[in-house]
Amino acid sequence: MSDKAICCPKCEWEPKKRSKWYCTCGYSWNTFDTGGTCPSCKKQWQTTQCHDCHQFSPHLEWYKHLDTKIREELLSLTKLILQ
Ligand SMILES: [Zn+2]
Ligand SMILES: [Zn+2]
Repeated sequence: MSDKAICCPKCEWEPKKRSKWYCTCGYSWNTFDTGGTCPSCKKQWQTTQCHDCHQFSPHLEWYKHLDTKIREELLSLTKLILQ
């Protein structure tokens, strides 16, 4: 379950532990270890590029469980409104 928690919203490529992203400051690290923040210059990356399809997606959309949680919360809110 947990290893499918993060994947590309466009092609479902899963980042590996050793996957690295490069910041404009020249630092390379696994962006999912820090939630998209460069540990060197503290730049917050709003988008993350896929290593497979090379498309940029909003960082939050990579977290499958977060999507599910937000969807569930929206659904429960909709139910409350409808009642
Ligand atoms: Zn940086
Ligand atoms: Zn992709």
